[in-house]
Amino acid sequence: MRETVVLTGMILTASPMKEYDRRVELLTRERGRISAFAQGARKVGSALSACTLPFTFGEFSLYEGRNSYNVKSAAIKKFFGEIAQDYDMACYASYFAEMAQYLTKENMEAPEELLLLYVTLLAMQNKRVPFRLVRVVYEMRMMMATGQGLELFECLRCRQAGTRAVYFAEGGLICDGCAAKDKELKRIYPFILSADALYSLQYILSSPLERLYSFTVIDSVQEELERFMRSYLGRYLPHHFKSLDFI
Ligand SMILES: [Zn+2]
Repeated sequence: MRETVVLTGMILTASPMKEYDRRVELLTRERGRISAFAQGARKVGSALSACTLPFTFGEFSLYEGRNSYNVKSAAIKKFFGEIAQDYDMACYASYFAEMAQYLTKENMEAPEELLLLYVTLLAMQNKRVPFRLVRVVYEMRMMMATGQGLELFECLRCRQAGTRAVYFAEGGLICDGCAAKDKELKRIYPFILSADALYSLQYILSSPLERLYSFTVIDSVQEELERFMRSYLGRYLPHHFKSLDFI
């Protein structure tokens, strides 16, 4: 007898297998990223057809095999159907899924990552926050959730607040006084954030997930945040996300 497990999660990707099957990648609260097979999911009338589409969120019943899972059934809690109908939203959602896939691990619980992805798709669907800002917020929080966050509240060395100079190589803020004492740092140009951009980033890092998408920024701050994220991710995530080619 194969064991059955019930996991809460979201389908990140789905690809065709054989004639009628589907292979899916799921981000689950309890076991992080897993891949599973859905036998017959592409047959007309299959009960697994709808619940194995990307961005389906729910409780998945899976047979646990030695090397992989098989989807037995699923109780759908939320399906983001709007994503498939809006090209821009689909591009961003694919990127968010690809980033989650890249940054999460197998057999390591991922409650924060899963909830982040969920509230992010919800924010796009509600269209209260521009997609470009959604992207900054998602990237920032996903990096934090997966252990690659930056210290943006106080100087890493003396723990004093008030500085806006970010040294990516060091992992966050370092004040002028501490930087002057360090031979290495004196040769590096930090990223100096504006007060507004720093405040936005601090909000992103500290807000409860349910309130994460409750602010907007003016264009100049948006552009600054994007420049900041390019430097940050360029250094911390040397990976080409295929879905970014469409954004
Ligand atoms: Zn300092």
